[in-house]
Amino acid sequence: MGGISSKCGILADGRYLDHETGPHVETPQRLKVIYEMLQSEKIHERTASIAARYASEEEIALNHTTSYIQQLKNMGAGYLDADTILSEKSYDVARLAVGGCLNVVDDIMAGKISRGFAFVRPPGHHAERDRGMGFCLFNNIAVAARHLIKKHSLNKIAILDWDLHHGNGTQHAFYAEKEVLYMSIHQCPCYPGTGQLEEIGEEEGEGFNVNLPIPAGVGDEGYIEAFDKLFLPILEKYSPHIILVSAGFDTHYDDPLGGMKVTAEGFAEMGQALINIANQNCNGKIAFFLEGGYSLSALSESVKELLLRALEEKKSPLEEKAHLSNIVHLIEKAKNLHSKFWRDL
Ligand SMILES: [Zn+2]
Repeated sequence: MGGISSKCGILADGRYLDHETGPHVETPQRLKVIYEMLQSEKIHERTASIAARYASEEEIALNHTTSYIQQLKNMGAGYLDADTILSEKSYDVARLAVGGCLNVVDDIMAGKISRGFAFVRPPGHHAERDRGMGFCLFNNIAVAARHLIKKHSLNKIAILDWDLHHGNGTQHAFYAEKEVLYMSIHQCPCYPGTGQLEEIGEEEGEGFNVNLPIPAGVGDEGYIEAFDKLFLPILEKYSPHIILVSAGFDTHYDDPLGGMKVTAEGFAEMGQALINIANQNCNGKIAFFLEGGYSLSALSESVKELLLRALEEKKSPLEEKAHLSNIVHLIEKAKNLHSKFWRDL
């Protein structure tokens, strides 16, 4: 595609490890293995660095109630719910996650990069306006979408959530609005129990909330089918100004929390499909935000495959297949043309 910058930007910062969770599956180790992979693959040499920063309370309040923000600020170490732990520094790290994600979309809007990757924690998509849950404190992607509406005057933002779990917080944030199209594919039944097919949005937002709850056991082919037949056609019709991705890697076949069978290559395929839509509709603007993914080896391998594809260093096997189908078409044409000279071709 002529004129589209494919420049990638990466947000990675050691301070995201300071949200300490003890023996919990949402551990600082998750980012440590990703950051080590970025080093060993020399990703930083080929990408722009996006700086982390602390989001202000005002920015976080774009999507959260001030009473909830104050609660987190004042509570110190403890439990928000049975799954969601705070250490001494967690409030600050959560603000750093939101601020970093805002920098990712700001750098995209400024044209410094077209593809952004936020490797942050705590994750965000379960966080509701007035409470954290499911390992999530603030809803990074929802605040980023609100910021894009307010600061950059966008009114067509698409969020695709491929995490194993439904992003209840993100769905609820935009349920009655058409400025943000929320689409999720997730395991069902599973935590948190929301995300039924019939939840399609309400009022102005009716039709702008698309859930595909699927049973455990689905692999790359099923996900690609859902993209090809459902998400990509809707995205093409919506023609977003930017695509935001809740990129969870807990659908990997090796993940301890999920029952899905997606491979590292499958994540690259899904990423490529969304990058293609971004190239066609919004000058390549796309941002990936880390959500879940709890097998350390699967997580780093999956992120690596996704990045190598986004850096255009690995060709898609599907692209090869597309070439093949072109050739098949030409072969058919040639056969038809020549069949009167060569019987039974
Ligand atoms: Zn998840």
